[in-house]
Amino acid sequence: MKLSAELSTLSSEKGRISGIQSLGAVDGPGLRTVVFGVGCPLRCAYCHNPETWTEKGEEVTAGELAQKILRYKPYIAQGGVTFSGGEPLLQAKFFTALARLLKKEGLHVAVDTSGNVAGEDVDELIENIDLALLDVKFTNEEDYRKYTGGSLAQALDFARKIKKAGKRLWIRQVIVEGINDGEENIRLLKEIISPFADVIDKVELLPFRKLCSEKYDRLGLNFPFAVHPETSTETINHLVEILKSE
Ligand code: SF4
Repeated sequence: MKLSAELSTLSSEKGRISGIQSLGAVDGPGLRTVVFGVGCPLRCAYCHNPETWTEKGEEVTAGELAQKILRYKPYIAQGGVTFSGGEPLLQAKFFTALARLLKKEGLHVAVDTSGNVAGEDVDELIENIDLALLDVKFTNEEDYRKYTGGSLAQALDFARKIKKAGKRLWIRQVIVEGINDGEENIRLLKEIISPFADVIDKVELLPFRKLCSEKYDRLGLNFPFAVHPETSTETINHLVEILKSE
């Protein structure tokens, strides 16, 4: 395909987003524009973005969105763009087109995901990104299933694909007191991510927060972890020490 024809095919790919954050500093290296896709196959008990489960979002083409993002290029040239959600892998074709347009502009592209969607379209998206921020939500299949509806095995399959494709990984886990704040959990986390050590740039333990509870109220949804306290800085610091220890 000639370049212009290819560009027009990529540009016309359609997707649905709930919004973009023009400049963020936490979802990948450097200052980044974050795109929030709609839809998610999981139902995490601590989800911060439950609106992405139900909202249809705004339909955009990859070309329109790339143009919008490129307005921030002077600020994000050293950082990049992160596709988040919801679950961006659900719209893998759209995000692949967007990634290819952004990569042509020399931007770094990351995907913030649970890794719980698979298929050829996802494989192609992996080929077109630089980094995946993989949320390894729980360290055993039972809790993963119980609190998210998804599968730890599938998340780890995704990590294997990232490694095989020669891409980089950040591993994340939200820590909820009374659920996964034990030292044993962190030891297990270290063990299950050890096969990917050579492609992991960062492991982040994130505190459970309840800022999202008004979203659940507004949407008329039950917030399953409303009864749990927010995770303290002390707990996170302690677990980070365990993570760093041999
Ligand atoms: S994977 Fe993310 S968007 Fe989906 S339910 Fe879990 S926290 Fe929410």
